Amino acid sequence: MKLPNYDDVLRAAHHLAHHAHKTPVLQSRTLNESLGAQVFFKCENFQRIGAFKFRGGYNALASLSHAQRQKGVVAFSSGNHAQAVALAAQLFNVPATIVMPKTAPAAKKAATLGYGATVIEYDRLTEDRELIAQRLVEEKGMTLIPPFAHPDVIAGQGTAVKELIEEVGQLDVLFVPLGGGGLLSGSLLAAQALSPACRVYGVEPEGGNDAQQSLTAGQIVRIDYPESIADGALTPALAPMTFALIQQYVSGVLTVNDTHLVSALRFFAERMKMVVEPTGCLGAAAVMQQLIPLAGLRVGVVISGGNVDLAQYGQLLSAG
Ligand SMILES: *Cc1c(COP(=O)(O)O)cnc(C)c1O
Repeated sequence: MKLPNYDDVLRAAHHLAHHAHKTPVLQSRTLNESLGAQVFFKCENFQRIGAFKFRGGYNALASLSHAQRQKGVVAFSSGNHAQAVALAAQLFNVPATIVMPKTAPAAKKAATLGYGATVIEYDRLTEDRELIAQRLVEEKGMTLIPPFAHPDVIAGQGTAVKELIEEVGQLDVLFVPLGGGGLLSGSLLAAQALSPACRVYGVEPEGGNDAQQSLTAGQIVRIDYPESIADGALTPALAPMTFALIQQYVSGVLTVNDTHLVSALRFFAERMKMVVEPTGCLGAAAVMQQLIPLAGLRVGVVISGGNVDLAQYGQLLSAG
């Protein structure tokens, strides 16, 4: 297993220049005053497709050979990775097939089709999406683009924190949403290279704290049915590649519950005038709950995405 390193992040940044947005870094005076800290939000909710996943998807497509591009790519996802691969493939003029559950929200399916991808639907109860994707790889020679367990995907995700540190300077501590660990792994490579004294924490939902358990156990722990409104972080387990990088560099993994996520989501809507999806609130919720003492520190937070189902978003804003 070849682990990506910071040189791979630099190469990814080169690929992404002029294709990904350099997303804004925002602060809230209210939050800074209440914490006595300086908090820098890296707003990947404003990235193309509404989440950082465009970075990894685009870098993976950019790294393919000509022959691989001609045969096309396949991904299985009902979330942001599907749209990231679909858009990146469209930009490279590469055919893309996305394997999605029949029950995926219509808006997500429409967005994926809108980027020109072919969607193959499967029945969650009776079919295995990995087998469907594997068949396309074997029969049509397509290349599978996994959502996090891939060096080019991890390197692409690392470019967000590279931009953040290059813009604001050294950080004392950084909080990163954590699902399968692609974003955290890339962020660790960037922070290690550019702000080596920075402590980096992954933040996952309390009802899906497999990474926290994995670090304690010293081996990958699987949670088959994680539960949280943070639907982008419900991966049952880390991959060997992300576990290796996280184990090596992370300062710790923290958890927040759905109530904390909703408070952060409302704070962003009310005070900062921006839509952040529940998963995108993981790092911010850890900061707002002060799970680590932050007074006097320079704090980075990755806001990972802003794709919401409007009906659910409305309910989260108005309930309680
Ligand atoms: C995929 C995703 C995550 C988790 O990223 P991993 O690389 O799987 O850890 C977090 N937030 C959003 C918005 C996502 O789409």
